[in-house]
Amino acid sequence: MDKELNSDKMRRGKQNFRCSFCGRDKAEALILIAGIDGHICEVCVEQAEEIIQEELYGNKKDGEGNGSKQWENHKVPDKLTPVDIKDHLDKFVIGQEDAKKFLSVAVYNHYKRLKQPKDDEIEIEKSNILLVGRTGTGKTLLAKTIAKFLNVPFAIVDATVFTEAGYVGEDVESMLSRLLQACDYNVEAAQKGIVYIDEIDKIARKSDNPSITRDVSGEGVQQAMLKMLEGTDVNVPPQGGRKHPEQKLVKVNTNNILFICGGAFDGVEKIIARRKNTQVIGFNGDNTERVDRENLLQYISHMDLKSYGIIPELLGRLPVLTFLYPLDLSALRRILTEPKNALIKQYQRLMELEDIKLTFTDDALDFIAETALEYKLGARGLRSICEAIMTDAMFELPSQGDVTSFEVTREYATSKINNSKLSQLKAA
Ligand code: ADP
Repeated sequence: MDKELNSDKMRRGKQNFRCSFCGRDKAEALILIAGIDGHICEVCVEQAEEIIQEELYGNKKDGEGNGSKQWENHKVPDKLTPVDIKDHLDKFVIGQEDAKKFLSVAVYNHYKRLKQPKDDEIEIEKSNILLVGRTGTGKTLLAKTIAKFLNVPFAIVDATVFTEAGYVGEDVESMLSRLLQACDYNVEAAQKGIVYIDEIDKIARKSDNPSITRDVSGEGVQQAMLKMLEGTDVNVPPQGGRKHPEQKLVKVNTNNILFICGGAFDGVEKIIARRKNTQVIGFNGDNTERVDRENLLQYISHMDLKSYGIIPELLGRLPVLTFLYPLDLSALRRILTEPKNALIKQYQRLMELEDIKLTFTDDALDFIAETALEYKLGARGLRSICEAIMTDAMFELPSQGDVTSFEVTREYATSKINNSKLSQLKAA
């Protein structure tokens, strides 16, 4: 026995030092730190530090694509006024004056609220926002532009993927996973971020279905969202998906997260029209209000959305309600050229890189806007129309060394559209 011990000691004496955690030899490690009864290499020190960060602070450390510099010491800019915010929105979003104004004020107040001293008697409540407008009118663009301007983490989520806990689908908490992912798991930055919840109308309560089957993707989801929108500590699965016992959860406080919800609320006009009519009759006969029947959405109120199937508790947590106009011909035409990163400017820059000066005649631009309107493609369609028009030119011009300029006319644009798959939409 003694002999055995002695030989063991001798073996250890001769043996090279190794990292007691990963077993790397001294020769392989850059640094090997000695402890009382063991050693640790620099790689294991780094890994241990990461584990500490994650365990204690729910934070992922730099490296491995986490914790990018952008979000370190991150601050919401001071001294911004609602006018500054709107001025910025004007550079990217055409029209939608009401929505821009509402949004600027709400966002301004929201971030003022962050600076409010904790002991202030008057607690300013959160001003989550609800945007109502047809698809492709700029709802997401507004939310995205604001977040970029404020330099806060931003996530877009789709309300349709959520279901009540325990059913196939995602938990509402996973929207915060996206926010965490957007800021490389910097919890502090995420807690000041903006979440845009798209298609909120799709989780309306299905009122005429008093449900033998439970309404797991409607009212159940609305209920689940309540606390989060109001502000609470939420345990978030960092990788998204369903919570399950093995997954480590990150605690995120939603008190200062701004939620912007958007939805088309198809058919809500009928509810508004009904309400407007009854009100007119309810008043004195001669007190008739002029109602713009073409655009009823401008009269939208929380009441209409309640009738649509959004529960009052949720509406209460979305106090700022505004609407977006459908895009008309002139708006579509302006979207082509005016925003800072307008489509036409993008094509011109692409060609400029080939030393080709690209121009569009006014008539050609009118044609593109008209086509988008005619095909009912909205602003999203402008891109596909431009692609259809420009693809041949972009294919051929780079290999024709002597071309220095190229003009797109209405005739050219028309011929390209007529030969494209898009023209089939017209028949539809
Ligand atoms: P939605 O209302 O469905 O969220 P989006 O904001 O995603 O629509 O708009 C789709 C695209 O259409 C945007 O990326 C943007 O290029 C363009 N667009 C829509 N509305 C506007 C607008 N008012 N001003 C400028 N571009 C717009």
